[in-house]
Amino acid sequence: MKNARDAKPDTLLSHAGRTPQANFGIINPPVYHASTVLFPTLEALEASDRNPFEIINYGRVGTPTSHAFEEAVAAVEGGYRAVTAASGLAAIATALSAFTKAGDHVLMTDSAYGPTRRFCNDVLTRYGVEVEYYDPLVGAGISALIRPNTSVVYLESPGSLTFEVQDVPAIAEAAKAAGTTVLLDNTWATPLYFKPFEHGVDVSIHAATKYIVGHADAMLGLMVCSEDAWPTVKKTAVRFGTCAGPDDLYLGLRGLRTMGVRLKRHQETSLALADWLAARPEVTRVLHPARPGDAGHALWKRDFTGACGLFAAEFKAVPKPALAAMLDGLELFGMGYSWGGFESLILPVHPTSIRTATTWKAEGPLIRFHAGLEDADDLIRDLDCGFTRLNAAL
Ligand SMILES: *Cc1c(COP(=O)(O)O)cnc(C)c1O
Repeated sequence: MKNARDAKPDTLLSHAGRTPQANFGIINPPVYHASTVLFPTLEALEASDRNPFEIINYGRVGTPTSHAFEEAVAAVEGGYRAVTAASGLAAIATALSAFTKAGDHVLMTDSAYGPTRRFCNDVLTRYGVEVEYYDPLVGAGISALIRPNTSVVYLESPGSLTFEVQDVPAIAEAAKAAGTTVLLDNTWATPLYFKPFEHGVDVSIHAATKYIVGHADAMLGLMVCSEDAWPTVKKTAVRFGTCAGPDDLYLGLRGLRTMGVRLKRHQETSLALADWLAARPEVTRVLHPARPGDAGHALWKRDFTGACGLFAAEFKAVPKPALAAMLDGLELFGMGYSWGGFESLILPVHPTSIRTATTWKAEGPLIRFHAGLEDADDLIRDLDCGFTRLNAAL
C-alpha cells in the first residue's frame, strides 16, 4: 500500500503489509518457510554481510513473511518499523535488554505483568542492572526518581491485573528530558486504541498472542519502534536470535485484518458485563477504565480511542469453597491464563502478593474477566447462575 500513512486505521488493517501485484494478484502474502537463503554470486554474499538487517540473508533475521507482519502493525500503530518475537514475553525481554547495561537503573511500573517483573528480578539484576518499581500513578513525579544512570522507564497502561491508567505523556516527557528510553507494554489497547508514538514512547511492546492473533492459538510478540529506537532493537533481536515461526506470523497477519471489528464487540460486551457486575451485591468495585467513575477514566478518555474486553471486579470477601462453586460450574467462561481470543475467560488474580512499590488493598478476591465474542446475555446468564451457586455455598 503506497499511501499507508494517510489512511484511517480500519483501512490500514485491511491493506497494510501486502502487495498482491507482486504475488500473482493473490490477496494474502505467501508464507515463506526459510532457514537458508542462497546467494547467486560471491559478490551478493559479501554484500549481505555489509547490510545484514536489510537484505534477506537468513531465516532467523527476517523473511518476507515477518516483514509483511511487521510492516502492517507498524503502519496501524504509527511506528517506524517493528521487530517480531516468538512471544510477548520474548519481546519484553529483548526490548529491556536492548537499552540496558551493567550499572544502569531501570524504573519499572509496579503494575507490570508478573512475568515482566520476574524477568527483571531474575535476569536483568544478574547482569548488574538495578530495577526500581514505581507507583503507576506517579505521573510527572517520575522526574524525582530518574537518576543519571536511569536508562529505561517502563510502562504498562492500563496494568493488566489492576487497570490503573498511567499518564503516559507526562511520564514520557520527563523521561525524554532526562535522555531516558521509554518502553510501553501496549497489549491492552492494541495498536488501534492508544497511539504510543504520539505520546513520546520509543518502543511499544505487544503480546500479539492476545488480540492481534485473536484466536487463542498462536503465540507472538512485537516491538514497534520509533526511527531512533529501531536499529538498537533490531540488532539486539538478531544477537539474541529473537524471531517467530512463519505459520504463526501468518496467523498474526490474518488476525490483524479482523481486529478492528472484533475489538468493537469485545469492548461492547466488556462494558455490558462490567455494568451488570457493578450492580451485583457480591461485587464491591469494578475496574474498567472505559466506565465513567473509574479512577482511570479521565486519562483513558483523554488518551485512548477505545477499550478491549479485559477488566476486573473485586468481590466481597467469600470463603474459597463458595468462590470455587461459582467458578467451577461456569459453562461459557473458561478459567485460564492469557486473553484476547474469541472466548470469554475468568481468572482470580493476586496483585497484593507481587507489588513492592505500592500496596494493593482488597476486601475480597479480585477476579479478572475477558469478554469474548459470545452473546452478552448468555454470558450474563452464566455469571448469574455462578452467583447463585456462590451464595448457596455460603
Ligand atoms: C500475556 C501478556 C504478555 C506476554 O505475552 P505472551 O505472548 O504470553 O508471552 C505481556 N504483557 C501483557 C500485558 C500480557 O497480558
